[in-house]
Amino acid sequence: MDAKEKPRVAFFSFTCCEGCQLMVLSCEKELPDILSHINIVNFREAMTEKSDDYDIAFVEGSISTKEEIKKLNKIRKTARVVVALGACSSTGGLNCLKNRYSMEEVKERVYGKKAALSNRHVQTIPARPIDAVIHVDYYIHGCPIPKKEFLSFLTALLMGKKPDMTNHPVCVDCKMAGNICVFEKGISCLGPVTRAGCDAICVTYGTWCWGCRGLVDDPNINAHEQTLKRHGLDPEAVDKKFALYGNCKSSNKCLTPKK
Ligand code: SF4
Ligand code: SF4
Ligand code: SF4
Repeated sequence: MDAKEKPRVAFFSFTCCEGCQLMVLSCEKELPDILSHINIVNFREAMTEKSDDYDIAFVEGSISTKEEIKKLNKIRKTARVVVALGACSSTGGLNCLKNRYSMEEVKERVYGKKAALSNRHVQTIPARPIDAVIHVDYYIHGCPIPKKEFLSFLTALLMGKKPDMTNHPVCVDCKMAGNICVFEKGISCLGPVTRAGCDAICVTYGTWCWGCRGLVDDPNINAHEQTLKRHGLDPEAVDKKFALYGNCKSSNKCLTPKK
């Protein structure tokens, strides 16, 4: 790429709800400035033009078919930088729930009596994050990704800096937001072991942390268990909460903590 040329950026989507791409599109105020620094050449949710020539690929969604594996490998061969966008792509996300059941059970649950007719031509495989298939350069976590994290990531990348990835637990953000810990209300929470960066938004809005941003590096599982016990809570209840985002067994980033 010529140094004066704007980087060519592509967005791709695999198995997911496309909510993380929507977060990118919701940067309405910042988009004109962003577009003065990059050329977006592929973004199905926003434009019809497509190009197979790009420098940076943002990849959303987990991989759940053989066709997706082929397409993802092609993206890796083309892009200089590959960024996993959101939980589905980074850790397998909600899609990995299906890995807990047989395909017959999943189809029946979703399609009922018409299960036999569903997806006859698509061979689905256990869902997995993209780094179970290709090398990934950077991750933007969350379900969905926080808009401000996408913007600070892109700014750092365009300035030639290594983008920061938070590596402290959600509890820190939660304290800074002034929330009362849900442990005090007899509710368990994955905040002590989950990667921060979301301003503990779920606790702020009345629930608890479900672990959508994945584990911090080297999570202190023992301390988490001790804290739960101190509050009279059952550490097993935490395992159930991990069931939402912690089902990917084909990733080295499986969220279910190894004890
Ligand atoms: S991470 Fe969440 S919001 Fe983003 S695509 Fe997956 S399910 Fe949707
Ligand atoms: S355990 Fe949950 S509610 Fe308590 S401080 Fe940590 S993130 Fe907040
Ligand atoms: S509080 Fe937990 S579940 Fe909610 S957005 Fe943050 S990391 Fe995700």
